[in-house]
Amino acid sequence: MKNILTIDVEEHFQVEAFHQVIPRSSWDKRQSRLTMNLMRLLDMFDEYGARATFFVLGWIADKYPNLVGMIKARGHELATHGYNHESLKRMTESEFKSDLQRSVDAIGKAAGVKARGFRAPTFSADRKVEWIWETLLACGIEYDSSIFPIYHDLYGDPRAPRFPYFVNSGSGSILEIPPTTYSVFGRLLPACGGGSFRLFPYWYTKLAIQAYNERGYPAMIYLHPWEIDPNQPREAAGMRSRFRHYTNLQTVERKLRRLLASYEFGPVCDIYPHARNSVSSGSRG
Ligand SMILES: [Zn+2]
Repeated sequence: MKNILTIDVEEHFQVEAFHQVIPRSSWDKRQSRLTMNLMRLLDMFDEYGARATFFVLGWIADKYPNLVGMIKARGHELATHGYNHESLKRMTESEFKSDLQRSVDAIGKAAGVKARGFRAPTFSADRKVEWIWETLLACGIEYDSSIFPIYHDLYGDPRAPRFPYFVNSGSGSILEIPPTTYSVFGRLLPACGGGSFRLFPYWYTKLAIQAYNERGYPAMIYLHPWEIDPNQPREAAGMRSRFRHYTNLQTVERKLRRLLASYEFGPVCDIYPHARNSVSSGSRG
């Protein structure tokens, strides 16, 4: 079965781990490594016939419209990762609405498409905050991929469902596609992306994919362009943040190539073409 491949399109300096040490005002002056890393990913995906959903920051779409247009031209889906990579936990309802709308507009302007999907920076959406869902619906978002059903110091909702489900809000419902997890002795651990993809061996990702597929669900890979870039400049952040961001970067391309050679991958829009009615009530939770 086809699994889901997703990329969060941001620079190496726009991550939550460096939020305290890299001010937003310095972004324009920093060395960009995005074009190089994104081109490598696009070439790799072509090589293996894989297509993906790219959750793009609005800031990136405004600064590099041609790059965002190229993602679309090469057959991938464009979705939004917000505008300024601001955690939803630090935004008011009106701040989130303007950040999200600005990102949707920037992607539309760069590539002529309407983003259907959203992934919150740092998985910071909270399914219990009603205005988040109302805002997504108001901005035309049909699916979300932000609620990690795990314990984590920065994000996660350990009581959230593990498999795709609908979040019902006042004016409609949104399909939630949770990041993939692996169950170890009844406890869900993150799998198939980011830190867990780098820290754990390849076979861990493979087990997680198989566990999903055996239950009839696609697994979802999520990675960032900076994760295939072991030579990126090192920031003077705290030890924990540096560990989070830099550990095992050199293993990612090798593991990703093994994945692409072993499984068929597509974007969210292939797997859930009609987000509003693509999950039966029987498969919730
Ligand atoms: Zn991000």
